[in-house]
Amino acid sequence: MPEIVVLGATGSIGDSVLDVVARHPARFPVHALTAWRNVEAMERLCRRHQPRVAAMADPDAAAALRRALRDEPVAVLGGEDGVVEAVEAAPRGVVISAIVGAAGLAPTMAAVAGGHRVLLANKESLVVAGPLLLEAAERGGAELLPVDSEHNAIFQCLPPGFQRGAAAAHGVRRVLLTASGGPFRAHSVESLDGVTPEQACAHPNWQMGRKISVDSATMMNKGLEYIEACLLFGLQPEAVEVVIHPQSVIHSLVEYVDGSVLAQLGNPDMRTPIAHALAAPERIDAGVTPLDLFSVARLDFEPPDGERFPCLGLARAALVEGGSAPAVLNAANEVAVAAFLEGRLGFTGIAEVIAATLDALPSEPVSSLAQVMDSDRLAREQAGRIVNDAGGRP
Ligand code: NAD
Ligand code: MG
Repeated sequence: MPEIVVLGATGSIGDSVLDVVARHPARFPVHALTAWRNVEAMERLCRRHQPRVAAMADPDAAAALRRALRDEPVAVLGGEDGVVEAVEAAPRGVVISAIVGAAGLAPTMAAVAGGHRVLLANKESLVVAGPLLLEAAERGGAELLPVDSEHNAIFQCLPPGFQRGAAAAHGVRRVLLTASGGPFRAHSVESLDGVTPEQACAHPNWQMGRKISVDSATMMNKGLEYIEACLLFGLQPEAVEVVIHPQSVIHSLVEYVDGSVLAQLGNPDMRTPIAHALAAPERIDAGVTPLDLFSVARLDFEPPDGERFPCLGLARAALVEGGSAPAVLNAANEVAVAAFLEGRLGFTGIAEVIAATLDALPSEPVSSLAQVMDSDRLAREQAGRIVNDAGGRP
């Protein structure tokens, strides 16, 4: 049985993964769990799932976990290197990449280089280092399966054996990427200025970590997913269209040249794409409530509003620009979202900070991970300065 490594085990995706895995313990033995610094949550998970290795990115948290788990036969690693080591030392199996942000890049790189089946939730690592990550996956013989619900839906609607970059040869005309529109779908532009982190994190359909919840509210999440879709499936930007679908029942669609449009539907529950990617091509029980179409009753669709949600356009432009632009976009977004969550930046300031950072750092070609990390660092510094110059306008 392939052993599994969960990167970001204490998060929202980590929780869903471990719920599915616990339904099939003989099939998915847990090899390693990693997290940032929540010792209490990690101790609980280790006692419950009995991994052989646990890693905490924060070294002090690792020391505390080691003390707390003295009575358990688990090796506790510490620091960012410890998280990467947990992946590198794992037997070939399944790695779930569910750390939030560019912090997930190094361990995800290690996972693809190690030739694992890699379940990708951490879309930021693909946005930041897309071509390099895909090359490394090919070299390492890794199978990269999308867990992001939209990309998992697209994957399910593509023909078996789909070749990246060969959409036309498979008769694929377009991919329709659905978006709920987030909590502010119906808000006026003027009212967006004063919204609070709590309002932004109250997503109508999905329970998620705070960073991705804010990304959904600004629609940067869809921007990152737009880039993710083009990279994962080798699609031209014009072959992907974003469709607002407030019910979040259709998770995305693929349109073929014969006029067929295939969709994947289900209740909005991340355990479905996780179970699909864990067991593919088999199907396993995910604990998800069956979809009741009679209670859904209707499915609505509308085009996205670029004025209210400028982040989508910024992401598209960064994708077309290429080079370091997607890494700069992502880093500026991470800095701006953190500032918003800490009350140091207004909601509409998020897009402004990203646009100003992209303006200040024109795209440069990138051909190594070191260059990507450099762009990421420069963009964080630049975005930090812009946030500070905004004068703490909440
Ligand atoms: P979360 O905030 O709930 O969890 C993040 C996890 O990453 C935690 O385990 C945390 O300990 C770990 N982490 C944070 N910073 C770290 C660092 N510097 N080093 C090592 N570990 C660190 O986030 P989430 O909602 O579970 O999202 C995780 C990823 O999955 C994100 O990339 C998100 O975009 C993606 N995703 C999430 C959902 C969802 O429904 N939550 C859906 C699709 C995609
Ligand atoms: Mg998604």
